[in-house]
Amino acid sequence: MSRPQRPTRVAVIGAGPAGTTVACLLARKGASVVVLDDGKRPTMIVGESLVPQLVPVFRRLGIEDEVEKLGVYKPGVTVTFDDDREINLMFTAARGVLPTYAYNVPRKEFDALITRTAVAAGVRLIEATAKLEAVDANDSERASVKLSDESLALIPEWNGEQPDLLIDASGRRRLFAKLLNLKADIGPRKDVSHFAHYENCPWPEPAGQVMTMRLQYGWGWRIPLPGPRLSIGVVLNKEDAKRFGNTAEEQLEGVINSDARLARECGQRRRVTEVTTYANYQLISERAHGPGWVTVGDSFGFVDPMLSPGLCMAMVSAEKLAALIPARGGLDSGLGRRLDKYAEWFRVNLGAWQNLVNRFYDGTVFALQRTGAQTQEKYPGIISKVVSRHIEKNLSGMATGAWINRPYSRWLLAFLVRFGIKGFDPKDFAIR
Ligand SMILES: Cc1cc2nc3c(=O)[nH]c(=O)nc-3n(C[C@H](O)[C@H](O)[C@H](O)COP(=O)(O)OP(=O)(O)OC[C@H]3O[C@@H](n4cnc5c(N)ncnc54)[C@H](O)[C@@H]3O)c2cc1C
Repeated sequence: MSRPQRPTRVAVIGAGPAGTTVACLLARKGASVVVLDDGKRPTMIVGESLVPQLVPVFRRLGIEDEVEKLGVYKPGVTVTFDDDREINLMFTAARGVLPTYAYNVPRKEFDALITRTAVAAGVRLIEATAKLEAVDANDSERASVKLSDESLALIPEWNGEQPDLLIDASGRRRLFAKLLNLKADIGPRKDVSHFAHYENCPWPEPAGQVMTMRLQYGWGWRIPLPGPRLSIGVVLNKEDAKRFGNTAEEQLEGVINSDARLARECGQRRRVTEVTTYANYQLISERAHGPGWVTVGDSFGFVDPMLSPGLCMAMVSAEKLAALIPARGGLDSGLGRRLDKYAEWFRVNLGAWQNLVNRFYDGTVFALQRTGAQTQEKYPGIISKVVSRHIEKNLSGMATGAWINRPYSRWLLAFLVRFGIKGFDPKDFAIR
């Protein structure tokens, strides 16, 4: 084959949703793609609650029917402040922009579906830990990564040639960043999260609704899953977690029992899986790409699980990246500039999610809601109703992913944070 026609060689490290999505889309375009995965994925993986912005991605991948079969229809999220005060973020707010629903999915089956789709598109999946070597690691402009001879030998079809592009999709392991000593912007929260699946628990209403609950220490989630099961997770400061015991099981059960509503509504619960733990996950890398390498999904950054942006950012970044890479002829000279824009998009969107989530952590969203409720009591009538619906619509629209970076919604939130709270102190509603 003459050089311009040969398929671009791409090695993707990690078969999570980010890695398999970018691999699938590049293979469909005609690139020669291998995915190396170490097969160390635990049975239980967080990331079960999705946002509507992912549904069009499923449609483009041609997998929505199968996601629907393996998952649960999700109409929205209810964020509770205490026993009887809550905010409903319904995805109907996205009408006209995005589908008005999302799904909750068991990760193992969901990840296997995307992997199958990638393999069907021509991706070769190699179960092996990728061994990598840094090249010019001390030169920030030229610092790069290559496959070790041992890993390259697993890809005989490339005749000993290195890939044109290496994609880091290793998730929170951030292989390239660690190899190249790249710094990261670390988020302020030092939380630990425990979760497990339970049976014998009623699902929140309406069916499929996810609940995010402010707790005495930190917050928790309830995600309805097929079975029927309920995924219950808690997220709290590491020091606070120790109040509930020494093991992950003691801490998860202790936090559940300490919340009157959760303990009451899930009083008959039976745990049917092991308890899985995550820690230290808020960070954004200083760089997303360099010569012959780029990062996608969590390996570039992840800000916070509260409103479930993780898989959305992982798969949308994978789509964006796949669109930038030439499928034939290797890399072109304009790719660096295109990847700069990709990195900028990534950083801005992670920042936008972080900004929205911060408004829940610091109590301003609840303080706004209390102000709105009080205003409606004082001045009942059409105007205060319309204003409050407008605010809810914008917050819900941001939570779908559709409007997360929409200038008007961001401006409205900033305006309300500054001028919209009367008679309440956000600190009283903050999440510890
Ligand atoms: C507490 C918590 C709750 C969360 N809840 C949600 C939620 O409800 N909804 C949501 O959308 N997101 C959620 N997330 C985020 C979500 O889990 C991640 O954003 C998502 O899994 C990222 O996908 P990824 O493909 O980038 O990485 P991953 O899914 O982590 O995949 C990385 C893959 O790389 C492989 N790998 C690593 N090193 C190597 C190596 N050397 N060689 C070969 N393979 C390797 C790993 O084994 C793994 O298979 C949550 C995160 C946390 C911490």
